[in-house]
Amino acid sequence: MCLPPFHHARELRFQLNLSGPVDPWEVADRLQIKVSEEPLDADGYLLQRNNNTRILISKEIDYEPRKRFTIAHEIGHFYIPHHQAEIFRCLPKDLQSFRTNKKIENEANEFAAEFFLPAVEVEKYLKHPPDFNLIKEVSGVYGTSLAATAIKIIELTYEKAAVILSEEGEVKWFAKSKSFPYWINKDKLHEWTYAYDYFVQGTLAVSGLQQLPAVAWCQGAPKDVVIVEESVAFERLGMVLSLLRIPISETEDNLDDNFI
Ligand SMILES: [Zn+2]
Repeated sequence: MCLPPFHHARELRFQLNLSGPVDPWEVADRLQIKVSEEPLDADGYLLQRNNNTRILISKEIDYEPRKRFTIAHEIGHFYIPHHQAEIFRCLPKDLQSFRTNKKIENEANEFAAEFFLPAVEVEKYLKHPPDFNLIKEVSGVYGTSLAATAIKIIELTYEKAAVILSEEGEVKWFAKSKSFPYWINKDKLHEWTYAYDYFVQGTLAVSGLQQLPAVAWCQGAPKDVVIVEESVAFERLGMVLSLLRIPISETEDNLDDNFI
C-alpha cells in the first residue's frame, strides 16, 4: 500500500502529539535527526546510513520560511516509507516550484505542506473568500511562505480561485481550486494582467483587488466573464504572486465598490 504524502504528515503530527504551528528543528530533534547548516551544492540533503540520519541545509538560504520548509521536506523523505535512498539531494527547483516533475520530490513537498499547514486547522480560517490579508495572516501564524500558504488555501477553498507565480514575465506555475473552471494561460503574461505591469515597469501599478476580463489569465474564458486579480511582488526574487478569484456577483454586490 502506498498512502498519499498528506496522510504521512498527519500521522507524524498525531504521533508527536503536535497541534498548531510546528518547529521543524524541534521535530527533527525528537526524531533523533541532527540538522546542520552547511555550504552545499543543493538546498538540502537527507543522509541515512547505519541508523544515523542527518539533514543538511544550505547556508545560503536566508529566508526563514524556506529554511523551515526545506527541513520539513527532508523529514518527509525520512518518514515516507517508500523513500528508501541513503542520500536525497534536493535542488532549489525541486523545493520551490511545487510542481517539479520528480514524483518523489513532489511527495516530500506535499508532506511538508500538510505538516506545516494541516488542512483541518487551516480550514477554520476560510470564513471569507481568500485574499492576501488572509494568506499573510495564516503564513504569520504557521511560519510558512506566502506561496506555500496560498497553495494550501487554494486547495481548501470552495471559491473559484487560483494562485499563479510569475517570473521574467512568464507563468512559472499555478494552482487552482477544485471549482475554478479554467486553465491558466501558460508562457507570457497577457498585457491586461496587473502582474504584467511589474515586469514592464519594475513595480505593480496598483495594489489590492482589481477587476479584469478573465480571458487575460484563463484559457477559453468567455469574453464577458470578469475575474478579480490581487498581485504582490517579491522584489528581491523578481517574482509576482497573483491570486485570482471569480466573484459570485449575485452575492457580492456589496463588495463591488472595493474591486475598482
Ligand atoms: Zn527532496
